[in-house]
Formats: sequence, C-alpha cells, structure tokens
Amino acid sequence: METAKSINPATGEQIAEYNRISTKEAENKVAKANEVYQTWRNKNFEERAKLMHKLADVLEDNKEEYAQLATKEMGKIIGQSRGEVEKCANICRYYADNAAELLADTNVDTEASKSYVTFQPIGVVLAVMPWNFPFYQVIRFAAPAIMAGNTGVLKHASNVQGCAFALEEAFEKAGFPKGIFANLNIGSDAVKAVIENKHIKAVTLTGSEPAGRSVASIAGENLKKTVMELGGSDAYIILEDADLEEATDLATFGRLQNNGQTCIAAKRFVVLDEIYDDFLTIFTKKMKDKKMGEPTEKDTFLGPMARKDLRDELHEQVGKSVSQGARLVLGGNIPDSNGAYYPATILAEVKPGMEAFDNELFGPVASVIKAKNEKHAIELANNSNYGLGSGVITGDKKRGEKVALQLEAGSSFVNKLVVSDPRLPFGGIKNSGYGRELSSYGIREFTNTKSIWID
Ligand code: NDP
Repeated sequence: METAKSINPATGEQIAEYNRISTKEAENKVAKANEVYQTWRNKNFEERAKLMHKLADVLEDNKEEYAQLATKEMGKIIGQSRGEVEKCANICRYYADNAAELLADTNVDTEASKSYVTFQPIGVVLAVMPWNFPFYQVIRFAAPAIMAGNTGVLKHASNVQGCAFALEEAFEKAGFPKGIFANLNIGSDAVKAVIENKHIKAVTLTGSEPAGRSVASIAGENLKKTVMELGGSDAYIILEDADLEEATDLATFGRLQNNGQTCIAAKRFVVLDEIYDDFLTIFTKKMKDKKMGEPTEKDTFLGPMARKDLRDELHEQVGKSVSQGARLVLGGNIPDSNGAYYPATILAEVKPGMEAFDNELFGPVASVIKAKNEKHAIELANNSNYGLGSGVITGDKKRGEKVALQLEAGSSFVNKLVVSDPRLPFGGIKNSGYGRELSSYGIREFTNTKSIWID
C-alpha cells in the first residue's frame, strides 16, 4: 500500500508512515463533508463561534504536543512551532468573534423597497496546503471558511501527515460535527479527481508555482473558483537614511525565521549604494552569529530545512548564482550531517538575470543587491515575476510610504517585516497568485456574494 512518510529532517530518520486513502475513501470523505454542510450552513454565527472558540482552546491545550510534532516533521525550531500553534488559536478566536460582522448584509440604496448584498456559504472547499507552516496555513483557510458556513477537506503536504491528522482530530475534540473538516491522505496525482468531484465548490492552494498552475488549470476546466497563494521573492529596500542596526536585525530575522522557508520572507535586499558596504558587513556578522543546530535546542536559531531534496535544490541555486557572477560572502556549503541542514548564506552583488534574483530561494539564503538611488531600488524591487510581500526600511516614514505605494506586491510594510495579520488581507499579484486570505476579503472569497431585491 502506498504511504506518506514523515522523516525528521534534523536526523534523516523516518518517524512515521501513514497509509494513503483510496479514491473511493476520498470520495466518501468529500460526500460526508457535503452532508455536514447541509446542516452546518443553517447554523447561526453564535453556534459556529462557540465551536470555533473551543477549537482555539483545544489548540492551546495541546500546544506542546502539536509544536513537537511540527518540529519533528519539518524541522521548525521549537519556539517558533509553539508560536505557530498560538497564532492558530488567535485566528480561530478572531473569526469566531468577527465573522458575523465581516459577513453582515450590506444595504444598497436602489429603487427597490429593500435591496442588499448577503454573503452565503458555497459548500465543500478543498485546501491543498504546504509543509512550511503545517498548522497555521491550514487554520488560516479553515477558520474563516467554516465560520462562513462552509465545510472543508484537506490535501496536506506528504511530509506532514502527522500534523494533518492532528488537525482533523482537533476539530472533533472541539465538538464540531464529524466530517466538517477531513484530512485526505492522498498523493498530488489524486488531487484532480477531488477537484472534479461535484461536491467540491472551490479550491485554495498555498505552495509552489507549478503546483498552483496545475491545480488552477484543473479547477478552471471545471469552472471552480480558486485562491492561489504561491511563492515570493520579497524585496526589502534599505534606504540610505535607515538605521543600520535595525535594518540588519530585521534582515537577519526575516531571512532565517522558519529556517528560511516562508513565502513572505525577506529574500532580496536592495540596498542603496551609500550604505551598501556597511549594511553587508553588519548583516554578515549577524547572520554568522546565529546558531544552526537541533531545532529542539533552546539556543538554536536556524534548524534544518524541511527535506533533503529541497536543501539540495537550494544549494544548486546558490552554485548557479555564483557561476553567474554573484559573490558568496557567507555559507554556501552543505554541512556534514544526516540532517537537511543548510547554513545561513549571503550572496552579494546579485543582479537581474541571476538565479538568486529571478527565482525564489526557499531557504536561509539572502541576496544583496546594490541600487544607485531610490528610483533604481524601486525598479529592481519590481523587476520580478513575483509580487507577494515587500518592504522599505528608512528613517523617514513619509518617504517609506511613498516608496511602499510604488512596490508591485500584495503587501508593503515600512520598517517592519511583512506578517500575516487576520485584520489585513493577505495574498499576492503576478506569479505569487491571486485572491486574498484573512480579513473581510479572505472570508468572502468562499461565499456567494448574493444580491437581494424586494420590489
Ligand atoms: P509544493 O508546491 O510541491 O507542495 C505544496 C502542496 O501542493 C503539497 O500539499 C503538495 O503535495 C501539493 N502538490 C504539489 N504538486 C501538486 C500538483 N501537481 N497537484 C496537486 N497538488 C500538488 O511544494 P514543495 O514541497 O515541493 O516545495 C517546493 C517549493 O514550493 C519550495 O521550494 C517553495 O518555492 C515553494 N513553496 C512555497 C510555499 C508558500 O508558502 N508559498 C510553501 C511551500 C513550498 P505533496 O506534498 O504530496 O507533493
């Protein structure tokens, strides 16, 4: 029987194996989610919120167990795994408390005696999710979708099936109707049949561009709505008036958090000529000082990458960039270890046309780019197929805002790393995808925006 294997990336050891489910079993889970939807859609917000608050409690009560599981399956350092579970609980509470208001009817003045827009649920939504935030990515979809009255099925990444089943169980422990949120342990080749299933009304995917293209095209053929949250190569412009200590602190944390594997991580640092050398010196020192090691150890800042194949791919990208003229300032070597480790790495003098400029580097590798002036920095930042997040570091907030407005991305933050905050929409443009998660924009993605007219 085919299985999904969980391998601890810190040691290379297999920790668990999960049997794949058959096409028929997947169909049954989707049918069950549809059956639950028929009653769930009619529950009021108060009833839904009660259970969503319970889910937040379950997540918090089991924080240590879930955090250890995430760390074992994908190598996140333990403190950040705990933080991820807490963030999940917060999202559940946010939507439990705010869904009714976010989805409130909107009156529209017309010639009718009454006319308004109402937001109704649509049915079962399929979520295809990645391993990098194995709890959070799922909850970011599930909490709003379920509060809106939908139900969900999950195709999680093959290397984090432990987390996927833990989430399915968490919904049951919280008292949700059985089957409202089901984990489908299927391979990516079995996703097509699920998308085509008549009960699936929409698909949301977070992951790589190829996965997004494939899922979106199948959904397109079937005229099913999609939300795509794909990769990014976020540029941070460091203006010459920036506080360099602050800028390099942000750059170091931004590039290394989650072992460098975050879609909205700071990946390209576009630094103005006047401060380029100083920035590089301080940044290199800070990156070098961060300890790489076992993700469960307290003083570790950088754990292993999630899988060896991803680490090897990253190393090839670094090598290619160097052969194209980038200067290797730090790291860039595969350590002698059974784990999927890759050291904090800096490539300098990165330019358009190089791998490190043009493509996403999904690991602890920073690309430092020199810009002649502010205008040139904006051009370089926007010279990308991606458009997820972006940032500006400056001593002048007004100037920062002006620059932020010119950046081609779904979010632009001034003097702060881009974060996903439930109060603000999150998503990208260009090859980073489309549609939005979080806030009122996110919860409305999987609703029928319906006009009502009473003559
Ligand atoms: P993938 O995009 O391949 O995986 C994400 C999810 O999509 C997984 O559940 C995966 O399943 C599934 N999937 C993959 N291909 C298909 C397909 N053709 N049809 C349906 N489902 C599919 O990410 P990888 O793990 O391979 O990572 C590769 C790269 O993806 C990274 O280097 C990074 O650039 C990007 N990425 C971006 C993320 C983000 O947050 N935007 C998160 C993770 C990765 P399965 O695991 O079974 O293959």
